[in-house]
Amino acid sequence: MLPAQAGQVSNDQFLANQTWERCLTIIKGQISSLSYKTWFQPIVPIRLNENDLTVQVPSQFFYDWLEEHYNTLIRNTIISVIGESGKLYYFVASEEPAISQPAQPENETVSPTIDSARTPFAPHVLFRTENLQSIRNNLNPRYLFNNFIKGDCNQLARAAAMAVANNPGGTSFNPLVFYGGTGLGKTHLMHALGNHAAVNGKAKRIAYISSEKFTVDFIESVQVDKVTEFSSFYRSMDLLIVDDIQFFAGKEKTQDNFFHTFNTLYQLGKQIVLSSDVPPKELHGLDERLISRFQCGLTADVQPPDLETRIAILQKKSEENSLELPPNVIDFIAVNVTKNIRELEGCLISLLARASLENREIGIDLAKDVLRVVVNDIRTPLSIEQIQKVVCEYFDIPVDLLRAKTRKQEIVVARQIAMYIAKDMTNASLKTIGIHFGGRDHSTVIHACQAVEEFLKTDNKYKHHIDQIRRTIELNK
Ligand code: ADP
Ligand code: MG
Repeated sequence: MLPAQAGQVSNDQFLANQTWERCLTIIKGQISSLSYKTWFQPIVPIRLNENDLTVQVPSQFFYDWLEEHYNTLIRNTIISVIGESGKLYYFVASEEPAISQPAQPENETVSPTIDSARTPFAPHVLFRTENLQSIRNNLNPRYLFNNFIKGDCNQLARAAAMAVANNPGGTSFNPLVFYGGTGLGKTHLMHALGNHAAVNGKAKRIAYISSEKFTVDFIESVQVDKVTEFSSFYRSMDLLIVDDIQFFAGKEKTQDNFFHTFNTLYQLGKQIVLSSDVPPKELHGLDERLISRFQCGLTADVQPPDLETRIAILQKKSEENSLELPPNVIDFIAVNVTKNIRELEGCLISLLARASLENREIGIDLAKDVLRVVVNDIRTPLSIEQIQKVVCEYFDIPVDLLRAKTRKQEIVVARQIAMYIAKDMTNASLKTIGIHFGGRDHSTVIHACQAVEEFLKTDNKYKHHIDQIRRTIELNK
């Protein structure tokens, strides 16, 4: 199938919103509020076409869950809102492209209200509606800059994405290429860029496509003798976003077509945005001339997030689900899931799912049960008590003196060092640290940290103490 014209947004979406709202009202009355928030609030209605309602779900996992647990509820709701002939189609927003065999979409039977039938032809479309590309240029409305957490790990990529979104084709970042491991935010960033450019009107014609889908569509266009239409569609874009270009490897004809598309757009001053799992120069199975084209703009990496960023992401995601996770649970997940943001989200979803299904409170115990499945060696976040213990053992003083009023010089030094390390090595606020040291004020903690920093500049002995204490803490973790 060839893509439809970009930019068509009909009032199907408006009708979809209205219909879905009515469904939600029914559903809300039948399940717990936690289940509702977890499983139904994140669903985005996309379009209503006669009796066919299309909704978007955030992930395959999410879809599977709905199907397994809420099938009957959803089916009955759809029937009571739309009628017996009502059908629900799902569209999975953020799936990794899977290597798949082409299917025959023409022969596909229309699924019953809810069905697990799925077409491997377009991996992220579970129920193939007749043309999902006409839906907002294939951009996922959930991926925005304002829900993309900034961190050292993605600073350049994010800044470049924003610059390009504000002036597509008008910066020297053309093409803009993101690279980095899986689940680190490349796809999110590309959609955010596209959505931003669509909203500010700086690019009228925008297409987002994965290289895999591009390849499949290209092959199809060859088979039905429509290569010219295929090519001119993509060559008419103001902003072309192609995700996961590593899948172009070994597909020579597609690469050749893409090469010409690239050149046409580039010469016209149109913006190209690409992503890959490795830096362009390490892409194997890609034509040298393509690789050299990819390198003429800006290449920006995304790295695994540091602890602070992981915490911020978890906070944001729980906020998006209108959930307040206890800070110790957030810390616990963030300490243990370190490499992949998708996994971080997965843990959050599992946590909510289990809390809701097993009727358990969201706390460390439940979090441990959830993480046991994904993490081999579960770590508990460093506590202020552990720090106090190590510091006191090091200076050979009783722990309760850290909390006492005493102003004896050696106790003051130990207390200041413990506060300084607590600030540095945990996520605790100044206020919390103060409370752990005999209910001291946060300004006392600031003063302690500043004092230690000053000593560190002038006194080698301090550096030695702190290095030793840190090492012991790390070993005991
Ligand atoms: P990639 O394309 O690099 O494999 P994705 O963009 O699909 O990764 O990100 C995986 C998941 O993690 C998505 O749901 C995305 O929203 C989330 N995510 C990644 N980076 C961030 C971030 N910096 N802030 C918020 N969410 C993020
Ligand atoms: Mg991706």
